[in-house]
Amino acid sequence: MKLEVNKDLCIGCGACCATAGEIFEFNDEGFAQVKVDVVPKEYEEDAIDAKEGCPTSAIEEKN
Ligand code: SF4
Repeated sequence: MKLEVNKDLCIGCGACCATAGEIFEFNDEGFAQVKVDVVPKEYEEDAIDAKEGCPTSAIEEKN
């Protein structure tokens, strides 16, 4: 699974970083970004929780 944060939608609330800190981090501009190229299997559940919990649906799956 590959994820990306849509920068036009992210409001920098930090929920994804709190839910899946192994996958998401803040960038210098205060918005979230994905730290990994491919989400490791053991973090997929957390990553999906973060994706579903994002208040602006900014986390999108990449092909
Ligand atoms: S949960 Fe969504 S809006 Fe909040 S920081 Fe993460 S990507 Fe941005």
